[in-house]
Amino acid sequence: MKKEKKEFKTESRQLLNLMVNSIYTNKEIFIRELISNASDAIDRYHLTSLTDDNLEKTNDYEIFLETDEKKKFSIQDNGIGMTYDELIENIGTIAKSGTIDFLKRLKKKQVKDAEMIGQFGVGFYSSFMVAKKVVIETKSPYSETGYKWISSGESEYTIEECDMEEHGTKITLYMRKDDDDDTYSDYIKTQKIKSLVKKYSDYVKYPIRMEVEKTNPKLDDDGNEIEDETETVREIETLNSQIPIWKKNKAEVSEDDLNDFFKTQYNEYTDPMMHIWTNVEGALTYKSIVFIPGKAPYNLYSEKYEKGLQLYAKGVFIKDKCKELVPDYLRFIKGLVVSPDLSLNISRETLQQNRQLVNIAANLEKKIIKELERTLKNDRELYEKFWDEFGVNIKYGVYDDFGMKKDMLKDLLMFETLNEDKKITLNEYVDNMKEDQTNIYYGSARTKDAIKASPQLDAIKSKGYDVLVLTDDIDEFMINILNEYDKKPFKSINQGDLDLADEENKETVKKKTEENKDVLEAIKEALKDDVKDVKLSTRLTESPVCLVSGEGVSFEMEKVMEQMPSDQKMKADRILEINPNHKLFKAITHVFKNDPDAFKDYAAVLYNQALLIEGLDVKDPVSFSNKMVNLMVKAAGDDEQSS
Ligand code: ADP
Repeated sequence: MKKEKKEFKTESRQLLNLMVNSIYTNKEIFIRELISNASDAIDRYHLTSLTDDNLEKTNDYEIFLETDEKKKFSIQDNGIGMTYDELIENIGTIAKSGTIDFLKRLKKKQVKDAEMIGQFGVGFYSSFMVAKKVVIETKSPYSETGYKWISSGESEYTIEECDMEEHGTKITLYMRKDDDDDTYSDYIKTQKIKSLVKKYSDYVKYPIRMEVEKTNPKLDDDGNEIEDETETVREIETLNSQIPIWKKNKAEVSEDDLNDFFKTQYNEYTDPMMHIWTNVEGALTYKSIVFIPGKAPYNLYSEKYEKGLQLYAKGVFIKDKCKELVPDYLRFIKGLVVSPDLSLNISRETLQQNRQLVNIAANLEKKIIKELERTLKNDRELYEKFWDEFGVNIKYGVYDDFGMKKDMLKDLLMFETLNEDKKITLNEYVDNMKEDQTNIYYGSARTKDAIKASPQLDAIKSKGYDVLVLTDDIDEFMINILNEYDKKPFKSINQGDLDLADEENKETVKKKTEENKDVLEAIKEALKDDVKDVKLSTRLTESPVCLVSGEGVSFEMEKVMEQMPSDQKMKADRILEINPNHKLFKAITHVFKNDPDAFKDYAAVLYNQALLIEGLDVKDPVSFSNKMVNLMVKAAGDDEQSS
């Protein structure tokens, strides 16, 4: 194969450009990124070898660093390596939506550079912050030969074949010359590398080794030290402790240790919000450390996000993202599970059918919920932080599986309300209920202000009842599944009749309904395909009409379902309420008696207005507009005649 010249894809060029003209001050993290890639590559070799008999099984893994302390630094691993295609695909293009998203946000100045590499994993390209030329030599166990990739971080790179015996990758950085901006050679001084590895990569589970120079006392032939005489020897030293944190005594591990572990293991930038360390012994034996991240991953709600915990059986790494250990609604947790009960062959079994794993998952879920309850009770501030970042997942948990977990989760829910300026739990809502109050009231709309505009609110306010504010898509679906809390049913202020009007008002409306029975019937008849009922309203004061939904599906739910891909679209029942004291009602009664032809148009216009007020689409905009035009022309014409 001849040496080939290739161009980087556009996004890669943008990213490289950023690295070369680095805006990022923390350049030392290139070592962390390269070590993390090497460790991932070994993980992948190891996990593939568990299921592919063609790959040699080994535990002889190593990440080897070399430095000349001036110009050249290299890192070598014996991991999965890359084939020719993979080399082009992985290094020449940015496949990850995360990085592309990052570039976009950077352009819009939505991210600060300090956040960047940690959160978005710019990864390998970070080498160009310190190197003027980078060489990759790599061999996949699935490829006959090795390949050598060279680039100076401009628009091109070259690829050619090279001889390599073992699978794995060696990356060599030719450091930039020291200049005003930075002393690049400092990054690759032996002492510096040692401290960077300790700082960023101490928990990497494979040994990170380097040849270091040591000055030892000179020994005589009998092995005794000779006074005042030393000799310099080169020795291979392992730089990272690798002691898996879970093997340490819980009491000896500091908060800082755990935070560092979290950040290096899971490529996180911020400290975790909480951790839950569990040791279970008995019929079921496992250890686990679960973290709730400080920030929700940017892609948590995208399909590409993979949930899961790392799984170790008898101390051997089995799987990176074991999804069977994590219910969907806790998909944001990170961490690991270690169990001596699991067989090493577990990676060949269907994990879902493994009883132990199912039991561990259930047990762990309970522990996490307990810890959240404890936090809610003892550290409100932290809990609210958790709620703001991840609360919507808990709501999803209540709703999911037909509410199977609602009893376990309902006390973790928090709500904004109309009366309180802080978020409250359902328990707190119920505690604050007025003596005569039997329902838990909620309003649902896009914003709190829209809820405040609800026609029924006056009556509720005058009684002093509080109202839960629901603005998330999932909210009403969740409330419907909950149905009640502490035997108090939930009641929407937008739906159905709240029965809060005073007796006198009710009597009057009842009387008027009797008197106008025929008009109401006629409107209902004219709109029979659209509305379930037409009523005179006890709640309207200003507006001429409103549309309320019956029990069950609400308008907000209808709007949410409208956006979902499913074809099971349910519609809310529409009840048209008319204000009996409004002039418009008198007008329509008049038309009903004197101009039966125009009456149908009046009914249709009335209904469409109600739709508009409720934020729903009018049924047939053209016909609606035509009817309005007719009415306006007619009104003007009538005026002319009368003048
Ligand atoms: P990330 O590691 O976050 O995916 P990088 O830009 O650092 O992003 O690396 C891109 C890809 O190149 C990796 O996903 C991996 O497939 C491949 N790669 C990088 N370093 C190595 C390595 N040492 N061995 C094998 N493949 C590697």
